[in-house]
Amino acid sequence: MKKNYDVIIAGGGLAGLTAAIHLSQHFKVLVIDPDTYPRHKMCGEYLSMEVDSYLKSLGIHINDLSQVTINNFRFTRGSQSIKTATLPLGGIGVSRYSLDLELYNKAKEKTDFLLDRISDITLNHNHYEVITTDQKLTARQVIIATGKRSLLDKKLARPFIQKKSPWLAVKMHYKFKMPNDIVELHAFKGGYAGLSKIENGNVNLCYLVNYESFKEYKDINAFNKEVLTQNIALKEFFKVAVPIWEKPITISQISFEQKQPVEGKLLMIGDTAGLIHPLCGNGMAMAIHSAQIASKYVTQYLQDEITRDQMLIKYSKSWRKTFSSRLLYGRWLQKVLLHKKLTTLSYWFLERLPFLLPIIIKKTHGKEIQP
Ligand SMILES: Cc1cc2nc3c(=O)[nH]c(=O)nc-3n(C[C@H](O)[C@H](O)[C@H](O)COP(=O)(O)OP(=O)(O)OC[C@H]3O[C@@H](n4cnc5c(N)ncnc54)[C@H](O)[C@@H]3O)c2cc1C
Repeated sequence: MKKNYDVIIAGGGLAGLTAAIHLSQHFKVLVIDPDTYPRHKMCGEYLSMEVDSYLKSLGIHINDLSQVTINNFRFTRGSQSIKTATLPLGGIGVSRYSLDLELYNKAKEKTDFLLDRISDITLNHNHYEVITTDQKLTARQVIIATGKRSLLDKKLARPFIQKKSPWLAVKMHYKFKMPNDIVELHAFKGGYAGLSKIENGNVNLCYLVNYESFKEYKDINAFNKEVLTQNIALKEFFKVAVPIWEKPITISQISFEQKQPVEGKLLMIGDTAGLIHPLCGNGMAMAIHSAQIASKYVTQYLQDEITRDQMLIKYSKSWRKTFSSRLLYGRWLQKVLLHKKLTTLSYWFLERLPFLLPIIIKKTHGKEIQP
């Protein structure tokens, strides 16, 4: 393995792998990640179709990965009536196990990979120094794609990491009969759960919950039994659904605090730049799209068309223009969904003005990304 690269990418999730495939067409790229592939990851596994054309241009065909085409949305709360809507662009139900592996296989055709964890990154004159557990490497440009929360955020003293976050998430695959073409969102006390199919016919249950609501119960099984089943749709689900894994995947301290796409001359993509509330089902598309935007400006910089400072400003502006309003709507929607009176009021409105639901969904998604 070389010691000097044009680009080093910290983190090989969706954002990091997409940037690697894009940039390795012209540059020497290294991705550093402590995990091997394939792997299950916390995610609702609903991928918005807005990324389809761009991924195709990179040689990734999501329709070959999954036939689960999702065009409908269903929302329930407690025992209240159900709301349904057609999704503006629709999406694909695909597991992170398959999707990340597909991107990894494509990326490794031209990208180097290092199985390691980055502990620090510094800018020295015109190159970055990247410190891992075992090595010291250099690159003309570094892209940070380490996801929602990483030890690197602590090392870089990013403001969001100083605050405690009350959110935790649980994910499990089940055998359960449900239509292919629907993604469901079921609200319960302190949180909400997404249900949709993935490529092998199994159903992914993934939920986000406030720790305050969770801590009264001794474990996930008790919480599922006592709280999730208060929702009528989830009650029906748990009656017959058969878990595939022995234990669910869990993560805690999920932060929705505002972040910056550029901090201290470091360029961030994916969840590292900003995490949209999961109920929007747009985080994966945003991770992929932010990788495309970053790749465009990093290419201009590496080809000496713009300076590093110009590149960072252009990326930052473009990121904000593309994602800021989506993040804002996501924040607002989550507040409404978890507030008893506001949800009741919203239900009342949606009952009378059902055409509003697709409009609201559209606000949390983007248009189809052009390659
Ligand atoms: C509960 C929940 C449900 C969701 N559901 C959906 C959904 O249905 N649809 C959707 O579109 N989005 C959803 N999302 C959002 C989506 O999962 C994320 O937006 C997406 O995974 C972001 O990809 P990423 O590449 O930024 O981060 P990740 O995929 O998390 O990748 C980060 C990578 O960085 C690596 N890493 C971490 N630290 C270091 C380090 N120090 N050095 C090197 N590597 C490091 C990690 O190992 C990891 O591989 C959901 C999120 C949550 C929390």
